[in-house]
Amino acid sequence: MIWEERWHPLREEWVVVAAHRQNRPWRGDKVAGDAENLPEYVPDCYLCPGNLRVSGKRNANYDHIFVFDNDHPSVGMNAPAELAPPPGIYRNRPARGIARVLCYSPKHNLTLAELAPAEIEQLFAAWRQQYLELGAMKEINDVLIWENKGAVVGCSNPHPHCQIYATNFVWKNVEKYAEVSLRHKRETGRVLFQDILEAERTDGRRIVYENETAIAFIPYFARYAYELYIAPKATHASLATLSEKEIADLSLALHRVEICYDNLWRMSFPYILTLHQAPTDGADYSEFFHFHMQFQPPLRKPNLLKYLAGSETGGGNFLSDTSPEEKAAELRGQPKRHYKQAKS
Ligand SMILES: [Zn+2]
Repeated sequence: MIWEERWHPLREEWVVVAAHRQNRPWRGDKVAGDAENLPEYVPDCYLCPGNLRVSGKRNANYDHIFVFDNDHPSVGMNAPAELAPPPGIYRNRPARGIARVLCYSPKHNLTLAELAPAEIEQLFAAWRQQYLELGAMKEINDVLIWENKGAVVGCSNPHPHCQIYATNFVWKNVEKYAEVSLRHKRETGRVLFQDILEAERTDGRRIVYENETAIAFIPYFARYAYELYIAPKATHASLATLSEKEIADLSLALHRVEICYDNLWRMSFPYILTLHQAPTDGADYSEFFHFHMQFQPPLRKPNLLKYLAGSETGGGNFLSDTSPEEKAAELRGQPKRHYKQAKS
């Protein structure tokens, strides 16, 4: 069994090696699939209220949102502290952190797209609470919140949920974003993300939704066909400092984007959603780190997956064969009601 972090000297980043998870009991096969034609409650779903998980722990009979520590975490406060010393220049260290699962709803067959804006506001409050609680812990330097939606991105259970990885290291993408944003601030005196927003609003063709304080757009530089950002218009390093009005406006933006996605092909639209919040390593990010949510959907068409090829995986740069302007127009043109609700 190996459970540790190993330093990648060529990429200058940590690799979490969690070989102990290889043999974890897996119930995903019983509940896999997308949230179409599923019941509200599934007796052997490990996320439904009141159910027993494989660890022997029982879920609360929750009504709204439910958070629990992942039973098979890739980072843990109980990760082995005594590690085999690595040879030569190599470095390793304990994989310390906290992994949690956050269920959006007790209903197995709902998705984020079907939650009401008021329920999405509660979700933002829960995300903020987790960020603050975990980020305040001494050893936690970053709190990464993300959702894998759809079997095509490897989600084993359609029950609406996201995951939280609070770690002793800063995630590479967050680190990179913080680094370039700080440099931009020093060189120009401006917030990089504000300059991006200004360019998007000047052009306007890629904006999918906008209200008083929040905006959703496919960026000029999108790497995936339907890659999309949602952000508050004012700079906040994390959810922690957003006002109620800003949370309400962000909820409306998220609600609208989710409906556009699902209505596009009248199917539950798969994606990876990441919340980009400032690291919790004690440094001050408030002047340059602009919180945003990033959707990275893997599909180009209903049955056409964007495979990461040699250029992307090997070379590291994306070749995109779609037009962000056209894709934004497709999304923007979707009806306002979710297709499932329009049916009934
Ligand atoms: Zn369930």
